[in-house]
Amino acid sequence: MQTFLSKAFKDNDEGREADEILRSCVHCGFCNATCPTYQLLGDERDGPRGRIYLIKEMLEQNTASRETQLHLDRCLTCRACETTCPSGVQYNRLLEIGRAAVETHVKRPLEEKIKREALLHTVPEPGRFRLLLKLAGLVSPLLPAEYRNSIPAVEPGVPDWPSNVHQRKVLLLTGCAQSVTAPRINLAAARVLDRLSVQALPANGCCGALSHHLSKREKTLTTLRRNIDAWWPVIEDGAEALLLTASGCAPTVMDYGHLLRQDRDYADKARTISSIAQDISMFLGNEDLQLPPATAAAEAPIAFHCPCTLQHGLKGAGRVEALLSRLGFQLTKVQDAHLCCGSAGSYSVLQKDLSRQLLERKLACLEKEQPALIATANIGCLLHLQSGTDRPVKHWIELLE
Ligand code: SF4
Ligand code: SF4
Repeated sequence: MQTFLSKAFKDNDEGREADEILRSCVHCGFCNATCPTYQLLGDERDGPRGRIYLIKEMLEQNTASRETQLHLDRCLTCRACETTCPSGVQYNRLLEIGRAAVETHVKRPLEEKIKREALLHTVPEPGRFRLLLKLAGLVSPLLPAEYRNSIPAVEPGVPDWPSNVHQRKVLLLTGCAQSVTAPRINLAAARVLDRLSVQALPANGCCGALSHHLSKREKTLTTLRRNIDAWWPVIEDGAEALLLTASGCAPTVMDYGHLLRQDRDYADKARTISSIAQDISMFLGNEDLQLPPATAAAEAPIAFHCPCTLQHGLKGAGRVEALLSRLGFQLTKVQDAHLCCGSAGSYSVLQKDLSRQLLERKLACLEKEQPALIATANIGCLLHLQSGTDRPVKHWIELLE
Protein backbone atom coordinates (compact mmCIF):
# COMPACT_ATOMS: atom_id res chain seq x y z
CA MET A 1 0.00 0.00 0.00
CA GLN A 2 1.39 3.42 -0.96
CA THR A 3 1.49 6.03 1.78
CA PHE A 4 2.06 9.78 1.98
CA LEU A 5 2.10 10.58 5.70
CA SER A 6 1.67 14.17 6.78
CA LYS A 7 4.62 16.18 8.10
CA ALA A 8 3.37 15.67 11.68
CA PHE A 9 3.97 11.91 11.44
CA LYS A 10 6.61 11.53 8.72
CA ASP A 11 9.54 12.41 10.92
CA ASN A 12 8.78 10.80 14.22
CA ASP A 13 9.22 7.28 15.61
CA GLU A 14 5.54 6.39 15.70
CA GLY A 15 4.90 7.79 12.24
CA ARG A 16 7.74 5.74 10.79
CA GLU A 17 6.48 2.60 12.52
CA ALA A 18 2.94 3.23 11.27
CA ASP A 19 4.22 3.88 7.76
CA GLU A 20 6.04 0.55 7.69
CA ILE A 21 2.97 -1.31 8.93
CA LEU A 22 0.68 0.43 6.43
CA ARG A 23 3.01 -0.47 3.57
CA SER A 24 2.95 -4.15 4.58
CA CYS A 25 -0.82 -4.36 4.01
CA VAL A 26 -1.69 -5.61 0.50
CA HIS A 27 -5.38 -4.80 0.88
CA CYS A 28 -6.47 -8.41 0.24
CA GLY A 29 -9.26 -8.36 2.86
CA PHE A 30 -8.68 -11.93 4.12
CA CYS A 31 -8.69 -10.50 7.65
CA ASN A 32 -12.35 -9.42 7.35
CA ALA A 33 -13.41 -13.08 7.35
CA THR A 34 -12.34 -13.60 10.97
CA CYS A 35 -13.16 -10.16 12.36
CA PRO A 36 -16.01 -10.36 14.92
CA THR A 37 -17.19 -6.78 14.43
CA TYR A 38 -17.21 -7.11 10.65
CA GLN A 39 -19.27 -10.28 11.01
CA LEU A 40 -21.78 -8.51 13.26
CA LEU A 41 -22.03 -5.17 11.45
CA GLY A 42 -21.06 -5.97 7.84
CA ASP A 43 -19.54 -2.49 7.38
CA GLU A 44 -16.08 -2.33 5.77
CA ARG A 45 -15.10 0.35 8.31
CA ASP A 46 -15.85 -2.13 11.13
CA GLY A 47 -13.35 -4.63 9.77
CA PRO A 48 -9.53 -4.54 9.95
CA ARG A 49 -8.95 -3.52 6.33
CA GLY A 50 -11.33 -0.59 6.64
CA ARG A 51 -9.84 0.49 9.96
CA ILE A 52 -6.36 0.37 8.42
CA TYR A 53 -7.64 2.72 5.71
CA LEU A 54 -9.18 5.05 8.26
CA ILE A 55 -5.88 5.23 10.16
CA LYS A 56 -3.95 5.79 6.91
CA GLU A 57 -6.26 8.64 5.97
CA MET A 58 -5.90 10.20 9.40
CA LEU A 59 -2.09 10.00 9.40
CA GLU A 60 -1.93 11.42 5.87
CA GLN A 61 -4.34 14.29 6.42
CA ASN A 62 -3.47 14.90 10.06
CA THR A 63 -7.12 15.19 10.90
CA ALA A 64 -9.85 12.81 12.05
CA SER A 65 -13.60 12.70 12.42
CA ARG A 66 -15.91 11.39 15.10
CA GLU A 67 -16.77 8.61 12.64
CA THR A 68 -13.17 7.43 12.58
CA GLN A 69 -13.13 7.43 16.38
CA LEU A 70 -16.35 5.39 16.45
CA HIS A 71 -15.04 2.67 14.12
CA LEU A 72 -11.73 2.43 15.99
CA ASP A 73 -13.61 2.28 19.32
CA ARG A 74 -15.66 -0.65 18.04
CA CYS A 75 -12.51 -2.70 17.46
CA LEU A 76 -12.12 -5.34 20.20
CA THR A 77 -8.31 -5.41 19.87
CA CYS A 78 -8.82 -9.19 19.70
CA ARG A 79 -6.12 -9.53 17.02
CA ALA A 80 -7.89 -12.34 15.16
CA CYS A 81 -7.02 -10.34 12.04
CA GLU A 82 -3.30 -10.66 12.80
CA THR A 83 -3.62 -14.44 13.00
CA THR A 84 -5.39 -14.51 9.63
CA CYS A 85 -3.28 -11.96 7.75
CA PRO A 86 -0.94 -13.62 5.22
CA SER A 87 1.31 -10.54 5.10
CA GLY A 88 2.05 -10.36 8.83
CA VAL A 89 0.53 -6.88 9.24
CA GLN A 90 1.02 -5.71 12.83
CA TYR A 91 -2.49 -4.39 13.14
CA ASN A 92 -2.40 -4.02 16.93
CA ARG A 93 0.57 -1.63 16.87
CA LEU A 94 -1.04 0.41 14.11
CA LEU A 95 -4.29 0.58 16.05
CA GLU A 96 -2.46 1.83 19.17
CA ILE A 97 -0.88 4.63 17.11
CA GLY A 98 -4.20 5.39 15.39
CA ARG A 99 -6.17 5.49 18.63
CA ALA A 100 -3.67 7.82 20.26
CA ALA A 101 -3.82 10.11 17.22
CA VAL A 102 -7.62 10.18 17.11
CA GLU A 103 -7.74 11.24 20.77
CA THR A 104 -5.74 14.36 19.93
CA HIS A 105 -8.14 15.33 17.10
CA VAL A 106 -11.63 14.43 18.29
CA LYS A 107 -13.39 15.45 21.50
CA ARG A 108 -15.49 12.76 23.12
CA PRO A 109 -19.07 13.36 24.29
CA LEU A 110 -19.31 13.96 28.04
CA GLU A 111 -20.98 10.62 28.79
CA GLU A 112 -18.13 8.70 27.14
CA LYS A 113 -15.52 10.78 28.94
CA ILE A 114 -17.15 10.07 32.30
CA LYS A 115 -17.35 6.32 31.64
CA ARG A 116 -13.72 6.11 30.57
CA GLU A 117 -12.46 8.20 33.48
CA ALA A 118 -14.57 6.19 35.94
CA LEU A 119 -13.03 2.96 34.64
CA LEU A 120 -9.53 4.39 34.81
CA HIS A 121 -9.95 5.55 38.39
CA THR A 122 -11.56 2.41 39.82
CA VAL A 123 -10.64 -0.89 38.13
CA PRO A 124 -6.83 -0.55 38.40
CA GLU A 125 -7.12 0.37 42.12
CA PRO A 126 -8.13 -2.77 44.08
CA GLY A 127 -9.28 -0.78 47.17
CA ARG A 128 -11.62 1.45 45.18
CA PHE A 129 -12.78 -1.36 42.91
CA ARG A 130 -13.68 -3.54 45.91
CA LEU A 131 -15.69 -0.70 47.45
CA LEU A 132 -17.47 0.02 44.18
CA LEU A 133 -18.45 -3.63 43.70
CA LYS A 134 -19.70 -3.86 47.28
CA LEU A 135 -21.88 -0.77 46.77
CA ALA A 136 -23.09 -2.10 43.41
CA GLY A 137 -23.90 -5.41 45.10
CA LEU A 138 -26.14 -3.58 47.60
CA VAL A 139 -28.25 -1.94 44.90
CA SER A 140 -28.12 -4.84 42.43
CA PRO A 141 -31.46 -6.41 43.54
CA LEU A 142 -33.14 -3.26 42.22
CA LEU A 143 -31.49 -3.53 38.79
CA PRO A 144 -32.74 -5.40 35.70
CA ALA A 145 -31.24 -8.93 35.39
CA GLU A 146 -29.05 -7.83 32.47
CA TYR A 147 -27.15 -5.36 34.69
CA ARG A 148 -27.42 -7.42 37.88
CA ASN A 149 -25.61 -10.40 36.31
CA SER A 150 -22.74 -8.30 35.04
CA ILE A 151 -21.73 -7.11 38.53
CA PRO A 152 -19.10 -9.56 39.80
CA ALA A 153 -19.05 -10.52 43.46
CA VAL A 154 -16.14 -9.57 45.71
CA GLU A 155 -14.23 -12.64 46.86
CA PRO A 156 -12.54 -12.67 50.27
CA GLY A 157 -8.72 -12.61 50.33
CA VAL A 158 -6.60 -15.75 50.48
CA PRO A 159 -5.22 -16.56 53.94
CA ASP A 160 -3.26 -19.73 53.19
CA TRP A 161 -0.67 -18.83 50.55
CA PRO A 162 1.97 -21.63 50.46
CA SER A 163 4.75 -20.88 52.94
CA ASN A 164 7.38 -23.35 51.73
CA VAL A 165 10.70 -21.79 50.77
CA HIS A 166 12.19 -23.09 47.51
CA GLN A 167 15.38 -22.29 45.69
CA ARG A 168 13.46 -21.57 42.48
CA LYS A 169 11.41 -18.38 42.81
CA VAL A 170 9.01 -16.57 40.49
CA LEU A 171 6.96 -13.41 40.74
CA LEU A 172 3.21 -13.92 40.30
CA LEU A 173 1.25 -10.82 39.25
CA THR A 174 -1.77 -10.31 41.51
CA GLY A 175 -3.32 -7.80 39.09
CA CYS A 176 -6.22 -5.43 39.74
CA ALA A 177 -9.69 -6.86 38.92
CA GLN A 178 -8.56 -10.43 39.56
CA SER A 179 -7.21 -9.65 43.04
CA VAL A 180 -10.68 -8.39 44.03
CA THR A 181 -13.01 -10.80 42.22
CA ALA A 182 -11.03 -14.05 42.13
CA PRO A 183 -7.87 -14.15 44.29
CA ARG A 184 -8.42 -17.93 44.39
CA ILE A 185 -6.87 -18.12 40.91
CA ASN A 186 -3.43 -16.99 42.02
CA LEU A 187 -3.71 -19.12 45.14
CA ALA A 188 -4.31 -22.15 42.92
CA ALA A 189 -1.32 -21.15 40.77
CA ALA A 190 0.92 -20.70 43.84
CA ARG A 191 -0.08 -24.17 45.08
CA VAL A 192 0.61 -25.83 41.73
CA LEU A 193 3.99 -24.09 41.59
CA ASP A 194 4.72 -25.11 45.18
CA ARG A 195 4.18 -28.75 44.22
CA LEU A 196 6.75 -28.23 41.46
CA SER A 197 9.17 -26.81 44.08
CA VAL A 198 8.82 -23.28 42.76
CA GLN A 199 8.07 -20.49 45.26
CA ALA A 200 5.57 -17.90 44.04
CA LEU A 201 6.07 -14.38 45.39
CA PRO A 202 3.14 -11.98 44.88
CA ALA A 203 3.84 -9.05 42.55
CA ASN A 204 1.18 -6.50 43.41
CA GLY A 205 -0.26 -3.95 41.04
CA CYS A 206 -2.19 -3.42 37.85
CA CYS A 207 -0.16 -4.24 34.72
CA GLY A 208 -1.26 -1.02 32.97
CA ALA A 209 -3.29 -2.70 30.20
CA LEU A 210 -6.50 -0.78 30.88
CA SER A 211 -4.99 2.71 30.64
CA HIS A 212 -2.85 1.58 27.69
CA HIS A 213 -5.93 0.43 25.76
CA LEU A 214 -7.70 3.68 26.59
CA SER A 215 -4.73 5.59 25.10
CA LYS A 216 -3.72 7.22 28.40
CA ARG A 217 -0.02 7.25 27.67
CA GLU A 218 1.31 9.13 30.72
CA LYS A 219 -0.82 7.19 33.19
CA THR A 220 0.33 3.94 31.59
CA LEU A 221 4.01 4.84 31.76
CA THR A 222 3.65 5.94 35.41
CA THR A 223 2.07 2.57 36.23
CA LEU A 224 4.86 0.71 34.44
CA ARG A 225 7.61 2.60 36.27
CA ARG A 226 5.88 2.03 39.63
CA ASN A 227 5.64 -1.70 38.93
CA ILE A 228 9.25 -1.93 37.86
CA ASP A 229 10.38 -0.20 41.08
CA ALA A 230 8.29 -2.62 43.16
CA TRP A 231 9.33 -5.81 41.35
CA TRP A 232 12.96 -5.07 40.65
CA PRO A 233 14.46 -6.05 44.06
CA VAL A 234 12.89 -9.55 43.76
CA ILE A 235 14.20 -9.90 40.22
CA GLU A 236 17.68 -8.88 41.37
CA ASP A 237 17.30 -11.47 44.12
CA GLY A 238 16.98 -14.21 41.49
CA ALA A 239 13.29 -14.57 40.54
CA GLU A 240 13.52 -16.48 37.28
CA ALA A 241 10.19 -15.39 35.79
CA LEU A 242 7.27 -13.02 36.16
CA LEU A 243 4.16 -15.16 35.73
CA LEU A 244 0.70 -13.98 34.74
CA THR A 245 -2.50 -15.93 35.33
CA ALA A 246 -4.59 -13.36 33.45
CA SER A 247 -3.66 -13.76 29.79
CA GLY A 248 -5.03 -10.23 29.24
CA CYS A 249 -2.09 -8.82 31.20
CA ALA A 250 0.61 -10.83 29.45
CA PRO A 251 0.90 -8.95 26.13
CA THR A 252 1.15 -5.61 27.98
CA VAL A 253 3.83 -6.78 30.43
CA MET A 254 5.72 -8.44 27.58
CA ASP A 255 5.60 -5.04 25.86
CA TYR A 256 7.14 -3.03 28.75
CA GLY A 257 10.47 -2.94 26.91
CA HIS A 258 8.87 -1.36 23.86
CA LEU A 259 6.69 1.06 25.81
CA LEU A 260 9.61 2.39 27.87
CA ARG A 261 12.25 2.20 25.13
CA GLN A 262 12.84 5.95 25.22
CA ASP A 263 13.14 6.21 29.01
CA ARG A 264 16.83 6.29 29.84
CA ASP A 265 16.27 5.31 33.48
CA TYR A 266 13.87 2.43 32.90
CA ALA A 267 14.51 1.08 29.38
CA ASP A 268 16.95 -1.68 30.43
CA LYS A 269 14.88 -2.84 33.40
CA ALA A 270 11.71 -2.78 31.27
CA ARG A 271 13.43 -4.94 28.63
CA THR A 272 14.48 -7.44 31.32
CA ILE A 273 10.95 -7.62 32.68
CA SER A 274 9.54 -8.21 29.20
CA SER A 275 12.03 -11.00 28.67
CA ILE A 276 11.07 -12.90 31.84
CA ALA A 277 7.30 -12.25 31.70
CA GLN A 278 5.23 -15.28 30.68
CA ASP A 279 1.66 -16.41 30.74
CA ILE A 280 1.59 -19.27 33.26
CA SER A 281 0.64 -21.75 30.52
CA MET A 282 3.98 -21.06 28.82
CA PHE A 283 5.89 -21.67 32.05
CA LEU A 284 4.05 -24.86 33.00
CA GLY A 285 4.29 -26.14 29.42
CA ASN A 286 8.07 -26.31 29.94
CA GLU A 287 7.90 -27.98 33.36
CA ASP A 288 7.87 -31.68 34.10
CA LEU A 289 4.31 -31.91 35.35
CA GLN A 290 4.15 -35.00 37.50
CA LEU A 291 0.88 -34.14 39.14
CA PRO A 292 -1.35 -36.86 40.61
CA PRO A 293 -3.51 -38.72 38.05
CA ALA A 294 -6.76 -37.00 37.14
CA THR A 295 -9.63 -37.70 39.50
CA ALA A 296 -13.20 -38.63 38.64
CA ALA A 297 -14.03 -34.90 38.49
CA ALA A 298 -11.67 -34.62 35.54
CA GLU A 299 -13.84 -37.00 33.53
CA ALA A 300 -16.68 -34.47 33.28
CA PRO A 301 -16.48 -32.71 29.90
CA ILE A 302 -15.01 -29.22 29.93
CA ALA A 303 -15.41 -26.54 27.28
CA PHE A 304 -12.29 -24.38 27.06
CA HIS A 305 -12.47 -20.78 25.86
CA CYS A 306 -9.04 -19.63 24.76
CA PRO A 307 -8.91 -15.83 25.30
CA CYS A 308 -7.91 -13.71 22.30
CA THR A 309 -4.90 -12.44 24.23
CA LEU A 310 -3.66 -16.02 24.56
CA GLN A 311 -4.50 -17.33 21.09
CA HIS A 312 -3.92 -14.25 18.93
CA GLY A 313 -1.81 -11.94 21.12
CA LEU A 314 0.60 -14.58 22.44
CA LYS A 315 0.11 -17.11 19.61
CA GLY A 316 -0.65 -19.72 22.26
CA ALA A 317 -3.71 -21.44 20.73
CA GLY A 318 -3.95 -25.06 21.83
CA ARG A 319 -1.35 -24.80 24.59
CA VAL A 320 -3.71 -25.01 27.59
CA GLU A 321 -5.91 -27.54 25.82
CA ALA A 322 -2.86 -29.80 25.25
CA LEU A 323 -1.81 -29.45 28.88
CA LEU A 324 -5.28 -30.31 30.21
CA SER A 325 -5.64 -33.26 27.83
CA ARG A 326 -2.21 -34.57 28.83
CA LEU A 327 -3.42 -34.59 32.45
CA GLY A 328 -6.56 -36.55 31.62
CA PHE A 329 -9.23 -33.84 31.32
CA GLN A 330 -11.95 -34.35 28.69
CA LEU A 331 -12.37 -31.33 26.44
CA THR A 332 -15.36 -30.73 24.18
CA LYS A 333 -15.04 -29.46 20.59
CA VAL A 334 -15.80 -25.73 20.44
CA GLN A 335 -16.99 -24.19 17.18
CA ASP A 336 -15.61 -20.78 16.12
CA ALA A 337 -12.98 -20.95 18.85
CA HIS A 338 -11.10 -18.08 17.20
CA LEU A 339 -13.88 -15.57 17.95
CA CYS A 340 -13.81 -13.14 20.87
CA CYS A 341 -16.32 -13.55 23.74
CA GLY A 342 -16.90 -9.78 23.81
CA SER A 343 -15.16 -9.08 27.10
CA ALA A 344 -12.05 -7.37 25.66
CA GLY A 345 -11.03 -5.36 28.72
CA SER A 346 -13.24 -2.31 29.01
CA TYR A 347 -15.21 -3.23 25.85
CA SER A 348 -18.01 -4.93 27.79
CA VAL A 349 -18.67 -1.60 29.54
CA LEU A 350 -18.00 0.81 26.66
CA GLN A 351 -19.63 -1.18 23.82
CA LYS A 352 -22.36 -2.99 25.70
CA ASP A 353 -24.58 -4.05 22.77
CA LEU A 354 -21.84 -5.53 20.59
CA SER A 355 -20.27 -7.16 23.62
CA ARG A 356 -23.59 -8.80 24.57
CA GLN A 357 -24.13 -10.15 21.05
CA LEU A 358 -20.66 -11.67 21.02
CA LEU A 359 -21.22 -13.19 24.46
CA GLU A 360 -24.42 -14.90 23.32
CA ARG A 361 -22.70 -16.32 20.24
CA LYS A 362 -19.74 -17.52 22.28
CA LEU A 363 -21.85 -19.19 24.96
CA ALA A 364 -23.94 -20.96 22.31
CA CYS A 365 -20.72 -22.49 20.92
CA LEU A 366 -19.24 -23.32 24.32
CA GLU A 367 -22.43 -24.90 25.72
CA LYS A 368 -23.42 -26.85 22.62
CA GLU A 369 -22.06 -30.15 23.96
CA GLN A 370 -23.42 -29.58 27.47
CA PRO A 371 -20.07 -29.36 29.31
CA ALA A 372 -20.01 -29.68 33.11
CA LEU A 373 -18.13 -26.41 33.25
CA ILE A 374 -16.37 -23.82 31.12
CA ALA A 375 -12.69 -23.06 31.63
CA THR A 376 -10.72 -20.08 30.42
CA ALA A 377 -7.45 -18.24 31.04
CA ASN A 378 -8.31 -14.62 31.69
CA ILE A 379 -10.31 -12.96 34.45
CA GLY A 380 -12.13 -10.59 32.06
CA CYS A 381 -13.40 -13.50 29.91
CA LEU A 382 -14.22 -15.52 33.03
CA LEU A 383 -16.45 -12.83 34.55
CA HIS A 384 -18.02 -11.93 31.21
CA LEU A 385 -18.88 -15.56 30.38
CA GLN A 386 -20.21 -16.14 33.89
CA SER A 387 -22.54 -13.14 33.52
CA GLY A 388 -24.39 -15.03 30.78
CA THR A 389 -24.66 -18.57 32.14
CA ASP A 390 -25.42 -20.55 35.29
CA ARG A 391 -22.80 -23.12 34.32
CA PRO A 392 -19.66 -22.64 36.42
CA VAL A 393 -16.80 -20.81 34.70
CA LYS A 394 -13.31 -21.37 36.10
CA HIS A 395 -9.71 -20.58 35.37
CA TRP A 396 -7.95 -23.69 34.04
CA ILE A 397 -5.27 -23.46 36.77
CA GLU A 398 -8.04 -24.13 39.33
CA LEU A 399 -8.71 -27.44 37.54
CA LEU A 400 -5.02 -28.30 37.65
CA GLU A 401 -4.84 -27.54 41.34
S1 SF4 B 1 -4.27 -6.65 7.08
FE1 SF4 B 1 -3.47 -8.45 6.05
S2 SF4 B 1 -5.28 -9.67 5.54
FE2 SF4 B 1 -6.01 -7.60 6.05
S3 SF4 B 1 -6.10 -6.51 4.08
FE3 SF4 B 1 -4.07 -6.09 4.94
S4 SF4 B 1 -2.72 -7.68 4.09
FE4 SF4 B 1 -4.84 -8.38 3.76
S1 SF4 C 1 -8.61 -6.68 16.36
FE1 SF4 C 1 -10.44 -8.00 16.22
S2 SF4 C 1 -12.17 -6.58 16.12
FE2 SF4 C 1 -10.32 -5.39 15.70
S3 SF4 C 1 -10.13 -5.38 13.47
FE3 SF4 C 1 -8.89 -7.11 14.20
S4 SF4 C 1 -10.27 -8.88 14.15
FE4 SF4 C 1 -11.56 -7.03 14.01
